[in-house]
Amino acid sequence: MREADAGPRVLLKRLREIMAEPMEPQERLDRIVRQIAQNMVAEVCSAYVLRADGVLELYATVGLNPNAVHLSALRLGQGLVGSIASSARPLNLAEAQKHPAFEYLPETGEEVYNSFLGVPILRAGRTLGVLVVQNEAHRVYGEDEVEALETTAMVLGELIAAGDLKRLSTAGIELDLTRPVTSNGQALAEGIGLGHVVLHEPRIVVTNLFNEDSDTEIERLASALSSLRLTIDDMLARREIAFEGEHRDVLESYRMFAHDKGWVRRLEEAIRNGLTAEASVEKVQSDMRARMSVVSDPYLRERMSDFDDLANRLLRELMGEDTASRDEKLPPDTIIVARSMGAAELLDYPRKNLRGLVLEDGAATSHVVIVARAMGIPVVGQAKGIVALSENADAIIVDGLSGDVHLRPQPDVETAYAEKVRFRARRQQEYRDLRDKPSMTKDGQSFNLHMNAGLLVDLPQLDESGAVGIGLFRTELQFMIAETFPRAEAQEALYSSVLEAAGKKPVTFRSLDIGGDKVLPYFRGAPQEENPALGWRAIRLSLDRPGLFRTQLRALLKAASGRELRIMLPMVTDIGEIEQARAIINREVQHLSRFGHGLPTRLRLGAMLEVPALLFDLEALMRAVDFVSIGSNDLFQFMTATDRGNPQIASRFEPISRPFLRALRSVVRAAEKNGTALTLCGELAGSPDSALALAAIGIRDLSMSAAGIGPVKAALLATDLAALSATLNEAIENDHGVTDMRKTIRDFADKHDIPLT
Ligand code: PEP
Ligand code: MG
Repeated sequence: MREADAGPRVLLKRLREIMAEPMEPQERLDRIVRQIAQNMVAEVCSAYVLRADGVLELYATVGLNPNAVHLSALRLGQGLVGSIASSARPLNLAEAQKHPAFEYLPETGEEVYNSFLGVPILRAGRTLGVLVVQNEAHRVYGEDEVEALETTAMVLGELIAAGDLKRLSTAGIELDLTRPVTSNGQALAEGIGLGHVVLHEPRIVVTNLFNEDSDTEIERLASALSSLRLTIDDMLARREIAFEGEHRDVLESYRMFAHDKGWVRRLEEAIRNGLTAEASVEKVQSDMRARMSVVSDPYLRERMSDFDDLANRLLRELMGEDTASRDEKLPPDTIIVARSMGAAELLDYPRKNLRGLVLEDGAATSHVVIVARAMGIPVVGQAKGIVALSENADAIIVDGLSGDVHLRPQPDVETAYAEKVRFRARRQQEYRDLRDKPSMTKDGQSFNLHMNAGLLVDLPQLDESGAVGIGLFRTELQFMIAETFPRAEAQEALYSSVLEAAGKKPVTFRSLDIGGDKVLPYFRGAPQEENPALGWRAIRLSLDRPGLFRTQLRALLKAASGRELRIMLPMVTDIGEIEQARAIINREVQHLSRFGHGLPTRLRLGAMLEVPALLFDLEALMRAVDFVSIGSNDLFQFMTATDRGNPQIASRFEPISRPFLRALRSVVRAAEKNGTALTLCGELAGSPDSALALAAIGIRDLSMSAAGIGPVKAALLATDLAALSATLNEAIENDHGVTDMRKTIRDFADKHDIPLT
């Protein structure tokens, strides 16, 4: 073979010619493997394509028995080829037969070949097949040969992704790219969404693989890299980035990666092998993604996905924003798929198109999830790898009840879900029919069902759900989705809008509950705490930062001028905190009245019962306030020492249990004795069986997410409360009787036809 025919550049040039010529897909593939074998001086070159059933099928070969094409097959993980596909890493062996994974396939006649080099065919981090060269001689292929074969594999990746090979597959067998995938994540916001994928960060499709001139491409890369570095420096220099904390850490690591010599060297090498600058970024990014998929260390994963983000930014620099499919029309049933996203970014999508959200990150308390929940969109988080697996416009189902995501679902899965959605819609209609009915049990006991809210997007639900008022308005949400501290005017404007939307219905504003898991990235004074849930948060922070507290109180007092104002203090631990807060409120009232501002007609001050210590000071608590609201999310977390945000232990302990119900009963008794109004506003209130338990121990005011009101009302309407109370209270009192309180409720409901869904 002539010297001039060797080398990856020449190979890529030849492949490009083959790709440009019109010919049948099988012939194209055959010519490609022949060209590779010739260029790499290999006796064998074979291409295996991954099918949807997890089998790698031999699609083309030079050197092995041609009759084995479309017959020879290996499962993922089986043999050398299967191991390469499942690990997404190359294998370079001088004596292939000695490798423990080696598996002899008699139909191929490969026994005479000793050395073996195989690389995965990758695209956007997914393995689509395997490309192999083999030689009789015992040789170790050089680093440059591995690199050359990987680059060549990219061309095959494009061929597979473009759908050209579909026609070659056996009838009824799909290639892996169209495989249905089910991913189990974490259910973060209730509901079911059927629709089509919209990638939040549109995938940039590099179609121009081959370069004309390496030097020009290296220059393009250098200039894109320097503007990328400048952008990062710029972001770091901006004043609103807090000096500590996550934002800064991420940007610092971006800066480090953007200067990483190893990365730049790999990019340049790929260009020298004949790729364009953008194709080289995609190649290196693909290798990285494949590696990421096998890394389990969360810290490393995070760092590697920073790299992934950076590569996306670099691709955008190189190709310009226009080439991205950002402007494509949103489907009417959009399901957003993203690694992570900000709350404000979600609000940029038109609500009417949104059917769901799938995140690779995301936790119950992340801002975007809070906003999505307020918008009534189902969310699944922690769906690892979903971005790389999805393509725009793929069919997808988000199950915000189980945490499942079905990508490109099978028809029977789709039919089953469509039925579920219809069923839920029928139920919703039934709940709407109940909207104006009072919440009264069969035996005439009345209840007040309020809703929890925190954002303007929540307000339409006040009427739609039939809530009698807002039992918990989480004022910190406005702070959590903002870029900086909301100004006094913005706070007052929000509170006025809420009161206006509520009309005559009462609204209970909770003073700022920041700290703990409710982090404000721009809050520079926030300390790094070892145990933030037990730290400087909620009322503790308000009392220590009276400026912040006073601004909020003033905004509330002004907004409620001429009507009743209800304020509730979060995370009270000690009665003294209520007295201190009251003194600050009184001073604000005096201040406003001195300056002639209108004032609320009546001020009601309440405390949340979230810290177990207060359970042992109930008499004083009841006398110190106008109302008490049990924050069962936190009270349960602290009583059982169970982090409410940790999915691993989330279902370990049961709030509808003897000890917790006993604690709640003691609160009910103290409230009755002192004539103090009592509400419960944690998530417990929103599920019908839990709500029945709370009703049975005497809680009459429940505040829940708007979606819970219909189901809870339907359950109450069908219940003979006296009978249920007798059954449950007996179970609570009897130390030697049944232990499963929820089952007691469920059995009762079953027996008496009480709907619990
Ligand atoms: C609670 O703790 O139950 C509660 C309602 O407050 P949050 O969920 O906002 O902490
Ligand atoms: Mg709380």
